[in-house]
Amino acid sequence: MVKGIIFDFGFTLFYFDNPSVERYYECFKKGLVKSIDILKEKQIWREEVSNEAFIKKFTKRREHFFRKSIKTKTEFPTSLIFQNVLESLREENIINGIDHIDQHTYDKLAEIYHSCEEDEWEPFENTRETLKTLSEKNIKIALISNHPNHQTIENMLNKHDLAIYFNYIMTSAKYGKRKPDPDIFLFTLEKMGLKNHANSVIVCGDEYADIIGAQRANLQSILLERKYKFPFEKEINISNLRKISNISEILDVIE
Ligand SMILES: [Mg+2]
Repeated sequence: MVKGIIFDFGFTLFYFDNPSVERYYECFKKGLVKSIDILKEKQIWREEVSNEAFIKKFTKRREHFFRKSIKTKTEFPTSLIFQNVLESLREENIINGIDHIDQHTYDKLAEIYHSCEEDEWEPFENTRETLKTLSEKNIKIALISNHPNHQTIENMLNKHDLAIYFNYIMTSAKYGKRKPDPDIFLFTLEKMGLKNHANSVIVCGDEYADIIGAQRANLQSILLERKYKFPFEKEINISNLRKISNISEILDVIE
């Protein structure tokens, strides 16, 4: 009997229309320009200095931390990247006076940076109905997303009135480690109150990190097959891997 389901976010419950690397970059650049506007308002970034210097440094740091996060399974939240970039710009005497910037401001900068993403991700047609049906069957529902800003995930769930269905919402930004590290799954399992029921919990996601993470945490798994392939995707070599192609099919699996 299934007692709980841990869903992934991107391309499991929500989709991003016409995804491409260019589209992602375009979206992040828009957000970054908005974040720089905040820094201008706070007189940290001077109007007369071009945005490009900031964009260049930020992009470089983000790529550095992204590679590091893949390698180490540690998450480096976007707020930390902003902090790192501002500290480095101060060391180079390009800006001064950042001591008064508090965590709340770094969090806000990160939220604004990801705000464009919030307009792009949409729940699949059957997401709400599926979550509703599962919760009516008293199945505990959690979410684990590899995302560098926790608030962005909460905002997207709230925007579509879906947060109500979740017993627990976890992100790599909040936990500090990324899927497939088993610890993020085990921590979430405990928060769901199902610590001693691992074999009655299913992880449903669209990629390697979800399925292999589930396996490492001794949880069941179901792969939601995505319509498009991503570059550099890791293959999942598991025999008898359960697959669905629409989120609502999970209801048949738990019957
Ligand atoms: Mg995904």
